[in-house]
Amino acid sequence: MFVKLLNHTPDPERTVAAAARLCYSPVGAADLFTGLSDKEVARLLAHLVESGHESPTEHVTFTFAIEGVSRALTHQLVRHRIASYSQQSQRYVREESFDYITPPSVAADPALKERFTATMAAVQSAYNELLKSVPPEDARYVLPNACETKIVATFNARSLYNFFKLRCCRRAQWEIRALACAMREEVRRVAPRLFALAGPSCETEGVCHEGRFSCGRAPLASHSGKGQGVE
Ligand SMILES: Cc1cc2nc3c(=O)[nH]c(=O)nc-3n(C[C@H](O)[C@H](O)[C@H](O)COP(=O)(O)OP(=O)(O)OC[C@H]3O[C@@H](n4cnc5c(N)ncnc54)[C@H](O)[C@@H]3O)c2cc1C
Repeated sequence: MFVKLLNHTPDPERTVAAAARLCYSPVGAADLFTGLSDKEVARLLAHLVESGHESPTEHVTFTFAIEGVSRALTHQLVRHRIASYSQQSQRYVREESFDYITPPSVAADPALKERFTATMAAVQSAYNELLKSVPPEDARYVLPNACETKIVATFNARSLYNFFKLRCCRRAQWEIRALACAMREEVRRVAPRLFALAGPSCETEGVCHEGRFSCGRAPLASHSGKGQGVE
């Protein structure tokens, strides 16, 4: 898996702090942006994060290059609607020698791994055979969820909070969890205070909302009767 923060709003923490401060200030955002001391930026961000007043965090965006992941993962990723995506197309890019992702559970068992690898080879052969007669957009129907893909994703910070809460959680599948944790590392490099408390509720609130699906890392929140589906 390859994850890189390609771009982001310049000075994201100051931008969010200025937007938050504007709500209570007679001074305009442009003056606030340049006038806020670093200490004040830190104080405003801490207040936002603690109080859950998240709308000012929508003003900053982060764009990621994501490669070496499965189509199973990107199907889960694009369910996060408050984001923008551009994905390598299987209509236009021919998969004549496609790479694929092998789940660690399969890789750990030599017999299963052999079966898996043989299946991928058979799929490749069928795809190449189909390509002789039909366009790539139709040949791709035989391709597996394991197929490697590349995607660019842009999230604002508020949507990233939601993404990290759901996908850095141990209930998320291993591949998207690895992606979410890598994306969190990337944004923490450029906006450590903004994302200090981004993650699953066991890390941010000390309680778990996953009910019977809880991994047991933190005590259950009192209202957590049921978690999300099983995906
Ligand atoms: C562990 C796990 C298991 C899952 N299992 C399943 C499964 O079995 N089947 C399945 O189909 N999905 C499953 N999902 C996907 C899940 O249901 C969500 O679709 C996905 O996590 C995106 O979350 P989201 O809607 O909060 O994100 P976004 O789409 O980015 O939305 C962010 C927030 O914006 C608001 N919002 C967005 N759109 C609307 C809207 N139309 N109306 C009102 N509010 C809106 C909501 O507050 C939402 O939380 C699973 C997810 C996880 C983490």
